[in-house]
Amino acid sequence: MIQSFYNSVLEQIDDTAERISLDSGIHKMIRKPERELTVTIPIEKDNGEIEVFTGYRVQHSSARGPCKGGIRYHPDTNIDEVKALATLMSLKCAVSNLPYGGAKGGVTCSPSKLSKKELQRITKRYAAMILPIIGPRADIPAPDINTNAETMGWIMDAVSMYKGSTVLDIVTGKPLELGGSLGRREATGRGVMINTIEILKKLNINPKKTSIAIQGFGNVGSIAAELLEDIGCKICAISDVSTGLYNSNGLDIPNILLYINSESRPPLLKEYNLKKDDEFISNKELLEGDVDVLIPSALENQIHIENADNIKAKIIVEGANGPVSKKADEILAEKEVKIIPDILANSGGVVVSYFEWVQSIQSFFWDINEVNENLKKIMLKSFAEVWYISKKERITLREAAYRLAIKKIACAVQLRGIFP
Ligand code: GLU
Repeated sequence: MIQSFYNSVLEQIDDTAERISLDSGIHKMIRKPERELTVTIPIEKDNGEIEVFTGYRVQHSSARGPCKGGIRYHPDTNIDEVKALATLMSLKCAVSNLPYGGAKGGVTCSPSKLSKKELQRITKRYAAMILPIIGPRADIPAPDINTNAETMGWIMDAVSMYKGSTVLDIVTGKPLELGGSLGRREATGRGVMINTIEILKKLNINPKKTSIAIQGFGNVGSIAAELLEDIGCKICAISDVSTGLYNSNGLDIPNILLYINSESRPPLLKEYNLKKDDEFISNKELLEGDVDVLIPSALENQIHIENADNIKAKIIVEGANGPVSKKADEILAEKEVKIIPDILANSGGVVVSYFEWVQSIQSFFWDINEVNENLKKIMLKSFAEVWYISKKERITLREAAYRLAIKKIACAVQLRGIFP
């Protein structure tokens, strides 16, 4: 049976805790979120009917600073998924040494079936419902799957209306016109690109001779594809919810991006006009294809006990959160597949969120070079630390990243002492 996402995260924490002889009390703390809030979101639909949605905000840990993490809109979102994602955020912020704990939010809904006005009403009501626990010094939301700068602008507005004045530092990933940061939209994909180049360097692989498959062509996958193609990698396969595209000589990424960016709601890849030698492929074919690097950038649990053995890529860079289950991770480790774990690979987003928060607090905004240079500096440092631990201890990069993160969180808990 395919194990649940939350179970995978907890099992990895348990494994790491045992191997580093973590204090059993602190281990118990890290296994549980500090706070879980479930809210009911009634909205009036465009046809006048009332529909009721469910939303969540989970704060996993505030030991190292205010909680930080995105908000996801998806039909399958549930409390266990949000708990897993909040836990990963605490670990992710610790790996990059950001002064944050971890949180995550979600609303169970199908954005493609809702109008923009309906999404705005859901967002503002959700923001009002979680208002008691969020705040610029308490918990700062950001975008995640199916949410974006526009969604963050709506949250910022809802919170500002309650507070009586504009509160820029309540969310990150805002529109540039509303205190957003240059480079935030591209940051997760840029971070994935930086990590991919670093691992290729370590393994002495020429990027210009590297074939890549990317699952998911949203904010993370599409930007990673663009940046990796820019440096000469061959993007042989991409996919979205509708289909996969494949070309053994490399897809025409700029043309696909033109198509995707032509409308405000990105069109589906299944309607893309294939170019010479392009073909449609299934999700299974994309994941199991014969490429050097696989970048899963969609949802969790895509590589699991039932397909892990079929994976041919020698390198996996986790653009998504939790795309490889714990059991699959063990199978892939035996096959000597190098995996850059989510809490390192996709941390570029939260790193630039941190920059945005700092800029919002100071009302002083950086140029794009400053953002990208600081992002690169942090990403390279985190990569080097995780790589060093993995070599020194002869453990996987995931185990190394978990050790680094859990030790930092444990240290914060110990230094603060248990309240009261
Ligand atoms: N949702 C993103 C993530 O999973 C970004 C979180 C943030 O910027 O706070 O890392």
